[in-house]
Amino acid sequence: MRSFSYQRATDPSAAVQALAGAATNNSPLTEAESQPLAGGTTLIDLMKLDVMRPRTVVDINPLAAQWSAIDLFSDYLRLGAMARMSDVADNPDVQRHYPVIADALKLAASPQIRNMATLGGNVLQRTRCSYFRDVSYDACNKRNPGSGCAAMEGFNRTHAVLGTSDQCIASYPGDFAQALIALNASVEVTGKSGTRNLPFEQLHKPPGRSPQIETTLAPGELISGFLIQGHWPRSVYLKVRDRQSYEFALASAAVALDVQDGFVRDARVALGGVATVPWRAREVEILLKDQKFDDTLARRVAEAAFAAATPRKHNAFKIKLGQRVVARALHQAATMEV
Ligand code: FAD
Ligand code: SF4
Repeated sequence: MRSFSYQRATDPSAAVQALAGAATNNSPLTEAESQPLAGGTTLIDLMKLDVMRPRTVVDINPLAAQWSAIDLFSDYLRLGAMARMSDVADNPDVQRHYPVIADALKLAASPQIRNMATLGGNVLQRTRCSYFRDVSYDACNKRNPGSGCAAMEGFNRTHAVLGTSDQCIASYPGDFAQALIALNASVEVTGKSGTRNLPFEQLHKPPGRSPQIETTLAPGELISGFLIQGHWPRSVYLKVRDRQSYEFALASAAVALDVQDGFVRDARVALGGVATVPWRAREVEILLKDQKFDDTLARRVAEAAFAAATPRKHNAFKIKLGQRVVARALHQAATMEV
């Protein structure tokens, strides 16, 4: 591990100042010389692996005093970015009105990690592509732009089939982000000119020609919170993985439905484990709208979610698996007691 300097930011403006100082518009946020440290469960791992090499680590844990609240209002929910995953998963209001969030968080990582990890750090975790995480491989456009992609012809069983480019096929690994997409959440970002909100769907960038640029955050910006309009008691998160605990998704689906008299009035569907970014399945939502729900419909619309899939040598199984996960998640959401 390389040496680095450690700073502890006592309030948001000090944190933003410390981070903006070392970042430039030419360095993507994830490569910036100065990195915020929240729970550290991703950042410290990647520093030990020599994948991330910040010269300065800015500890933002004191910001939890302002940024860790879980506030339920009559028509929306606000989650502070420094809230710990376990606190949000265990919150009775979240469990009752947004089960998709509670389930996505509960099914992620391990109890110890969830006790430490924050919501902001969770959505910004980096891919688990083994070539990205092992610096002995030179070819990784995300880690080393222009070097190629070892996964294209390598072992790509866990890689993405949606949103890929000829530069990178790494899958987005998190779970919580899919719940946010399915709930049409927005993300609150704090920077040197104040606070701005953007649709959560616009936070992550697909790899395209620049897989090293993963988000639309500007240098020095911090995520301060998440906002979710409305209440979504009819919502589920379904995750399929190689083992039942402490494992990333091979395929997952976050579904939020409004069903009246058996007809789907509104549907939101997001996919995980199969795409390069948290993935909204709009085709599915359109096909469901105003239809009478049954399992035949669920299976048919689930196929549409993967119409544009590009499988590689080892990951073609994700298409069928993903379709089944979507169909089952729709069934669970449509038939759950609310
Ligand atoms: P940190 O490590 O502190 O930060 C992560 C990144 O975000 C860093 O680049 C940091 O600079 C930046 N950052 C942190 N907070 C902010 C902020 N507020 N604003 C701007 N930038 C910020 N996750 C899942 O979703 N599902 C899983 O199944 C899962 N399994 C796991 C299994 C293992 C063995 C491990 C080690 C991790 C697993 N994870 C999983 C990932 C884990 O959930 C994340 O590491 C964690 O959520 C990151 O949060 P953190 O607060 O520790 O982030
Ligand atoms: Fe790197 Fe992306 Fe290729 Fe993995 S898939 S080796 S992260 S460029």
